[in-house]
Amino acid sequence: MTYVPQGNNPLLYQPGAEPIMHLDQATFTDTIFDPTKHNSFIVEFYADWCGHCRAFAPYYREFASLVSTWGEVTRVGAINCADAFNAQVCRDNGVAYFPMIKYFPRHSSGYNDGIILEAAHSGTNLRDQLANKILNEYSRMPYPDWPNFHYLDVNRQTKFEDLWKTVANNANYLVIIFEHFDGAGTEFMLNLFPYRALVGGRRALSSTPLVQMLQITTFPYVAMFKRGDQQAVFMGPYMTTTIQEIVNRIQPGQFSTPAPLQTTTRRKIDLVDCEKEPERCAGLYFTSETDMLKAMHSALHDEVIRTNDRIDGQNFTNLYNFVSLLAEHFPSLTFANSGTKRRLARQSTSMVLKKSERAKMVFAHMKQFLDQKSGMVTASEWKNQFESIERVYGHPFPVNATWQHCAGSFPEYRGYTCGLWSTFHTLTVHTYMDTIKNRKINPLKPLKAIQGWVNSFFGCQHCKQHFMHMTTVLFPMSERRVRHSHDMIMYLWRAHNIVNNRLHGDTTEDPQFTKYQFPPLFLCPTCHSGGHFSRRQVRNFLLRYYANIRPHHWSHSL
Ligand SMILES: Cc1cc2nc3c(=O)[nH]c(=O)nc-3n(C[C@H](O)[C@H](O)[C@H](O)COP(=O)(O)OP(=O)(O)OC[C@H]3O[C@@H](n4cnc5c(N)ncnc54)[C@H](O)[C@@H]3O)c2cc1C
Repeated sequence: MTYVPQGNNPLLYQPGAEPIMHLDQATFTDTIFDPTKHNSFIVEFYADWCGHCRAFAPYYREFASLVSTWGEVTRVGAINCADAFNAQVCRDNGVAYFPMIKYFPRHSSGYNDGIILEAAHSGTNLRDQLANKILNEYSRMPYPDWPNFHYLDVNRQTKFEDLWKTVANNANYLVIIFEHFDGAGTEFMLNLFPYRALVGGRRALSSTPLVQMLQITTFPYVAMFKRGDQQAVFMGPYMTTTIQEIVNRIQPGQFSTPAPLQTTTRRKIDLVDCEKEPERCAGLYFTSETDMLKAMHSALHDEVIRTNDRIDGQNFTNLYNFVSLLAEHFPSLTFANSGTKRRLARQSTSMVLKKSERAKMVFAHMKQFLDQKSGMVTASEWKNQFESIERVYGHPFPVNATWQHCAGSFPEYRGYTCGLWSTFHTLTVHTYMDTIKNRKINPLKPLKAIQGWVNSFFGCQHCKQHFMHMTTVLFPMSERRVRHSHDMIMYLWRAHNIVNNRLHGDTTEDPQFTKYQFPPLFLCPTCHSGGHFSRRQVRNFLLRYYANIRPHHWSHSL
């Protein structure tokens, strides 16, 4: 539980603080497929930047705490698939969305042995799903060193001693749980298992003759017997406190409470109050070269190589269109004073973005690589080519640098998805700027290239579904809406504001970066007029905001 996994990305769970085993590319196979182990595994495949995973984390934590005493039978693990270090193992596991929960039976020997569970937002639901999987496994492979989950077989010939057959010799007590078929008995047996040297456990069906003998009328119900004594020493309905009560009756002080849920005390941060200090707040908003390069490395490398090995058909076209857009319009210049068409035409105060210039060469090479591939490339070929080209250009993607504008006030906020949005907006603005004199540009093309990448490669499944629904049904990305070249900027602006509106108040919202309708008043007072946005002012603001890019070396020389 204390192992700190390799990789660069932040983790959603704290090593050592929770009963969750951290796995990574280096440990996954040896741990999960170890043929000598006695336990099964349940593993969450997550992405640290994924909103669904962040919202799911408290439930997984609660679940891990609930089953923390089941360690001899099953263990809880997690692996961060957003970390490039783990890309291969996540791909081998067929992780197509996040969070993905898989149960690996005790004798699993390969990735295909994992069984998918529902990532329910409830610790007890996850516990019940796990108990079910354990029971299914036991019904096929009744391991003698697991709890005896078989129902007691009681008939007229059964003697009292027969009930004790599988109870450890030194255990002087036996507890029987009576239940309707596959009720709470499995969980009870797993909870009782750590005390097997004191007390044995068995399950019995509500139809067994013992039920009549003991005059039990409600289920689930437990009865405890002492060795040699046919009279039950304790009887009562099964509740969450029953095991504790049983253990305390036998040997007071022996009951060990499951690992408590860690309430991590967060360092206090001083949030900037944007109403009181609008200028300070405005200073937190800028377009960062670092953020875009980090995001594009994940988008083209980590996300693409996690997909199925064969990239063909529509996925190939979508990859080709997106990498072409990057090769043509990813910004390699920053403009300090842009904002109106006239200023753009002068472009007098531009500066080269050195890393982006080299990154653009990587994009161009990757496009050429696809040109030679006639409609199909494998993820491994793509990975090898990408890694070799980025080496040739001196690793222009600062993957280990910290997020700049996209840094959250806590590690679980912002990051990659903020970097994606920033790049998407920047691409529309720079396509507009690059083609300002060429009226022949189809303004839908860059938007469709972005939509295609999201559809084929964005690992956040629910984001993808929402985005596709929005851009095809709610607010269609169509010729009617995107007629003029500046429409591509304004379409994405409005689409993003629809997402902001939906996510406002969501648990994933960074308290410092509230999901405003963008740009908020403190960033652009002139954009707001009579409770509405002035589209012309917004357009000029977006041109300024996304043309004026803070260079990587600027952020890292502070
Ligand atoms: C395609 C896509 C779909 C997503 N869908 C979901 C989803 O369904 N559910 C979910 O939980 N998360 C979703 N996300 C993630 C979510 O939108 C945010 O990225 C995440 O919550 C982090 O928010 P943030 O505060 O960093 O700001 P972000 O919303 O990521 O914005 C990044 C930056 O873009 C600028 N910006 C903000 N709004 C606009 C605008 N209207 N026009 C121009 N610039 C703007 C600001 O500088 C802002 O800081 C999606 C992300 C993407 C890329």
